[in-house]
Amino acid sequence: MNSFSLPPFPQDADLRRLVHFSASDGRIWLAGHRMLLLHVEALAGLRRELIQTIGTEQTRRVLKRAGYASGIRDAALARQVRPGATLYEQFSVGPQLHMLEGAVQVTPEHFDYDLESGQHLGIFRWDHSWEVEAHAKHFGPQTDPVCWMLIGYASGYVSAFMGQPVIYKEVQCAGCGDAHCRIEGRPLKDWPDGEQLQADYEADSLLVRMEDLQAELESLRTSLNPSDDLGELIGRSKSFEQAIGLLRKAAATQVTVMLTGETGVGKERFARALHGMSPRAGKPFVAVNCAALPHELIESELFGAEKGAYTGAGTARPGRFERADGGTLFLDELGDLPLAAQAKLLRVLQNGEIERLGSTQVRKVDVRVVAATNVDLEAAVADGRFRRDLLYRLNVYPIAIPPLRDRVEDIEVLAQHLLTQFMAQHNKRVAGITDRALDAMRHYSWPGNIRELENLIERALIITTAGQMVDVDDLFTVPPNQQHITVNESGELHQSISSDFHALFEDLQRRGLSLDVLEDGLIQAAVSQAEGNLSAAARTLGLTRPQLSYRLQKLKQL
Ligand SMILES: [Zn+2]
Repeated sequence: MNSFSLPPFPQDADLRRLVHFSASDGRIWLAGHRMLLLHVEALAGLRRELIQTIGTEQTRRVLKRAGYASGIRDAALARQVRPGATLYEQFSVGPQLHMLEGAVQVTPEHFDYDLESGQHLGIFRWDHSWEVEAHAKHFGPQTDPVCWMLIGYASGYVSAFMGQPVIYKEVQCAGCGDAHCRIEGRPLKDWPDGEQLQADYEADSLLVRMEDLQAELESLRTSLNPSDDLGELIGRSKSFEQAIGLLRKAAATQVTVMLTGETGVGKERFARALHGMSPRAGKPFVAVNCAALPHELIESELFGAEKGAYTGAGTARPGRFERADGGTLFLDELGDLPLAAQAKLLRVLQNGEIERLGSTQVRKVDVRVVAATNVDLEAAVADGRFRRDLLYRLNVYPIAIPPLRDRVEDIEVLAQHLLTQFMAQHNKRVAGITDRALDAMRHYSWPGNIRELENLIERALIITTAGQMVDVDDLFTVPPNQQHITVNESGELHQSISSDFHALFEDLQRRGLSLDVLEDGLIQAAVSQAEGNLSAAARTLGLTRPQLSYRLQKLKQL
């Protein structure tokens, strides 16, 4: 075991920089995690009520688990913040953050940690525990330790940091009349009463057990009713639930379904889910993107062709309708279907009959058509590009799939689901997605919808270092420009310039540009991009028109 003659904790300036007070939008961040500045008095009151309602034992367990969760979150930061530092310095991130967060003062007394064997013995002294203050106020001196959230934090932090279960125990507590609190931590297996200690961290309350039973019941229900399989469709937002409700009702019938929605909303997934829930589930699902096929090939693709029917048709081949016989044919971007093919499609929908290209033999097919479009077919009808009778035939049962920006509540569950999928696909593990990144995603407009979300998550997984959390910068190349308030060395809040400006400044230096030249250049670029429209140029620069005119005049005088 490596024994360290314990130096004091390193400087914590690197940790202070992680705290951002974003007072203008009512949020505080620790790296990517949202934090809260709240009164100990309020938390003490909550603690007292919990004890009076569910008893000391349950409260102790609940609060230990809450502390454990925040310890795990802080552990994700440790190696990220201090790459290349000694193990002890990296480990110190936990106790130092605990101090910065205002929980307790930590003094290291003993620290052994062997990476190879996983041996660990840590002893720390605690002073000014907020829990001792809170508890003593309402309940007076105790016989058992009272620093429940704090000890949970220590166990959670060290377990996540070491990647194995480590349990910290309060061997002395100021809440029991000792001069200080003192904690001792070892790997789970090294505690004789380890199992018992570990049990505190397992969610076992009556409430959780009821939740478990409910989940079990739910899964039983699902296995009894396998046709209700939404597959890749995930969400619980109202607009999404509405669309799913319509889809479920259509599944049992033969009705032709028309899916509408912006590009990238996942129309094919809806079509697949419809097929999966329908009595046709055991038969083929065939998807055709009408926009992706050259116009001269589209009819042979859909309806098949006899040998020699067109140049290059060397052999007779069945079309997608024949291949989908008994099942479902998904026609995406239907608005791009040429008029001649539209006439043939109408015939299949009316009589279930097709003719291969170059043949007069009529073939019967039993195909359910699901069509999709992201263009306004009514407008296409008005322009003469789409047959009105076909539109009526297709538009019996339209389902509008909501764009992602109208499904804000679904973004987190979708992002987590996609992340898990891509982790398996790329064989790489990251620790999750930070609150700040999720927040940025909820505020983004998603012009490319789910497909764009998929792309961003996959890219972010590739960029993020294994074991760390996906943060805003990993998702969006141009992070939202934020002016932040951080904590300086003397513990005061002060305004800091976002790192974007540092990068911009370094770029200016490299190019040898002065502020004047930069300003002139920006103004000229804006005017030229607006094709001389000064009002438009002023808007893009965040100026009024008179302000812009004034600056242009100044420019001309140079
Ligand atoms: Zn204590």
